[in-house]
Amino acid sequence: MKLFIANGYVVDPAQQINAGKNLLIEEGRIAGILDRSEPVPEGAQVLDATGLIVAPGFVDLHVHLREPGQEYKETIATGAAAAVAGGWTSICAMPNTDPVNDNPAVTRFVIEQAEKAQLANVFPIGALTKASAGKELAEMGEMKMAGIVAVSDDGRAVPSAGMMRRAMEYARGFDLPVVDHCQDVSLSKGGVMHEGRWSLILGLRGMPAAAEEVDALRDCSLARLTDARVHLAHVSTLGAVEAVRRAKQAGLPVSCEVAPHHWTLTDEAVQSYDTNTKMSPPLRSKEHVQALMEAMSDGTIDAIATDHAPHHADEKGLEFDEAPFGIIGLESAIGLAFELVHKGVISLERLIEMCSTNPARIFALKDRGTLARDAHADVTILDPECEWVFDVSRCKSKSRNTPFDGRRMTGAAVATIVGGRLVYLHPDYTRITQAKHFEAAAK
Ligand SMILES: [Zn+2]
Repeated sequence: MKLFIANGYVVDPAQQINAGKNLLIEEGRIAGILDRSEPVPEGAQVLDATGLIVAPGFVDLHVHLREPGQEYKETIATGAAAAVAGGWTSICAMPNTDPVNDNPAVTRFVIEQAEKAQLANVFPIGALTKASAGKELAEMGEMKMAGIVAVSDDGRAVPSAGMMRRAMEYARGFDLPVVDHCQDVSLSKGGVMHEGRWSLILGLRGMPAAAEEVDALRDCSLARLTDARVHLAHVSTLGAVEAVRRAKQAGLPVSCEVAPHHWTLTDEAVQSYDTNTKMSPPLRSKEHVQALMEAMSDGTIDAIATDHAPHHADEKGLEFDEAPFGIIGLESAIGLAFELVHKGVISLERLIEMCSTNPARIFALKDRGTLARDAHADVTILDPECEWVFDVSRCKSKSRNTPFDGRRMTGAAVATIVGGRLVYLHPDYTRITQAKHFEAAAK
């Protein structure tokens, strides 16, 4: 089967392409980027992408899919549906399920469920330690054979520098990146929001920025010691990005990601006592948000990742102190990222680099994050001017925990192609003049 995406604007930072071109897909692979003057190949289905951006498929390094164990919050299939609706062609699943993905049987289960769903590609992340309990190293080699792309005890902090050192040395032997949720528990324990002016006003226990910074500095030092590939999850503080900036200047193999809520909101939002403003790491104060934007703009931050964390309404309906941390993010992330483009904080090219080129490189996902010839035909089609309202009742995710319901957005992923197959088309979308072609291709 041939698919011809015509008249779009192809932006592929991996090949430094940013030009009006046509894209040809054959048998699930990229067959070429063609000049507009070249004729439509015989037998190809044509998708008209006039006025649209054709980008390599977006890769989310950080999602929680809740299966196995908490399927009432999300399943691999519903999470994958939410992913493609948000423009993500690949998602990386954190191991903190029940049971934890700390062995090849769980890894294989995740991959099989994703294959059944036939929506987004799902790459499992294995646990760093058995049951993510921070005591004994998990069987990273066996999990790698089964298909994991990284290791992490995300959701929990690795309790000591000694344990993290051993984990990094072990992971390095299997060439697996180590992803860390930086949080020194001896500083953050019992905290439910950022420690600062607003935690004082609201009378809620705070988590100081230093809790993240201490572990970020530790991890950067250990990257130097072990030469392991280290990736800091959801950085939210000035100190953490400063640590990464210095590590990069020193040539260390350190990377980091940012989640959309951390640049969009501040801790001031917690005054609503809406538990959808409760996440870990917490929403921070203005100076931290400012530092995140600078780090996105100057390249210190490599990737945008959602930290999609579905929870049931009954759980999020508890008192602020009792409610679980986290929000869903797959279907709002790209709209929030476009806010930065429209404000001039980052360019469109940089958005694509942070959502596709860089995440694919950090987890070494072969033939992804680019539209190079023979790469997997994963494509995200964007309309920077599409105006829409994020309506959580229409989300594909099983959960509804978001502070962004009703937010007006400008810019969206309007079509998502995975392995050469159109798996999502934005329902509000009216500017695809030949939408029937897209629908035909989806069948
Ligand atoms: Zn985390």
